[in-house]
Amino acid sequence: MTRTVYVNGDYLPETDAKVSIFDRGFLMADGVYEVTSVLGGKLVDFDGHAVRLERSLAELDMPNPISKADLLEVHRELVRVNGIDEGMVYLQITRGAPDDRDFAFPDPETTPQTIVLFTQNKPGLAASPMAQKGMKVISIEDIRWGRRDIKTVQLLYPSMGKMMAKKAGADDAWMVQDGFVTEGTSNNAYIVKGNKIITREKSNDILHGITRAAVLRFAQEAQMEVEERNFTIEEARTADEAFITSASTFVMPVVEIDGTQLGDGTPGRVAPRLREIYLDESMKAAI
Ligand code: PMP
Repeated sequence: MTRTVYVNGDYLPETDAKVSIFDRGFLMADGVYEVTSVLGGKLVDFDGHAVRLERSLAELDMPNPISKADLLEVHRELVRVNGIDEGMVYLQITRGAPDDRDFAFPDPETTPQTIVLFTQNKPGLAASPMAQKGMKVISIEDIRWGRRDIKTVQLLYPSMGKMMAKKAGADDAWMVQDGFVTEGTSNNAYIVKGNKIITREKSNDILHGITRAAVLRFAQEAQMEVEERNFTIEEARTADEAFITSASTFVMPVVEIDGTQLGDGTPGRVAPRLREIYLDESMKAAI
């Protein structure tokens, strides 16, 4: 089926949607993005994503070309016309397409930004088989730039990390900097020890996950202890459990790290419980 997508104010069939070859998103990765999940045809934590988008744009000195109300309207319209029940809405804003390639930022007055949104249909997203089985991760060095808190479209190293994982027979990679885990290639990373959930604290070193914020809140509400601190791969390999969070995977148990099984190699008690709470609460609050 041909999707309807959104480009700079127009709803178009995906085959008719075009962006200039001079677009700075294409030439310089000069763009930011958000991925909002859809459950039951509704948007999960739209507000959180809109707030983070504002922040990413501000950190890069890019104006925000669209109001939150209009952004919500576009998200909802795309979900509606594409008949999405479970899936995602991808949003990208770039610094636009100047007349020529140049390192200097173009004047935003004369170079309008590019806004693109499209849906991804993922039936069965909430009932993912991987949530039953758990996933395997490998560790790789984190060689990304120093502003990972900004959600830019520079995703080459995360893509390479996924390929390294695949080659090693794993599902994803956890990145390590100065001996400590930063995050997964497209998710935040956690370990569990007893009743305690441990995850790296927010800084420029990691993306401030929207799912992370919600899950830590739900964990505290469920009387679990949360400790925001660095941990090593060695500590993770001997933890009771591990898991990741992201908008498209929600809470996903990790059952193997660098070939070492955690516990009996199946999802433990905490991660599946958090996934259930997260899905329940998110569906209730979705708009
Ligand atoms: N870290 C990285 C590097 C990511 O790419 C993502 C997902 N885009 C996350 C964490 C999780 O963020 P969120 O929960 O907002 O999807």
